[in-house]
Amino acid sequence: MAGHGGSVAGSDAEVERLLDVLAAEGGRRTAARRAIVAAFVATAGAVTADELTARVQADAPDVNQSTVYRVLEALEAAGAADRAETGREAAAWHLVAGDHHHLRCSVCGRVEEVGTDAVAALAAAVEAETGFVLSDHLVLTGRCARCGRR
Ligand SMILES: [Zn+2]
Ligand SMILES: [Zn+2]
Repeated sequence: MAGHGGSVAGSDAEVERLLDVLAAEGGRRTAARRAIVAAFVATAGAVTADELTARVQADAPDVNQSTVYRVLEALEAAGAADRAETGREAAAWHLVAGDHHHLRCSVCGRVEEVGTDAVAALAAAVEAETGFVLSDHLVLTGRCARCGRR
């Protein structure tokens, strides 16, 4: 998936960048914040706050979920992360790596990213027919490649 993963050195740089973003929002650099940001960067794709909390707590058991939420919301406020509604109990959080939409599997709940080019023709057709302008952060539902089509 473009924009995620990469070398260990690359992820370290990304962790530092996001800690700087948080510091600019007025927070201190704490071990808890570092653990949360590192777990978020290490996640390929989208993750719920519950899942991220579980991953953080595997290494740092004293970090609680409200701290994870505060970090995610601060990153969102700074434009470094956003959330896609999943239609289930929890939103899927992810780092922002350029313009994108989301594909949500209605069978397994996976949320994937897709570039804006993939739906540009759809957006243009909808606007031409109805005047309705689609969001720049859509969530399209269907079945993922793993769940297949039926
Ligand atoms: Zn998104
Ligand atoms: Zn699926």
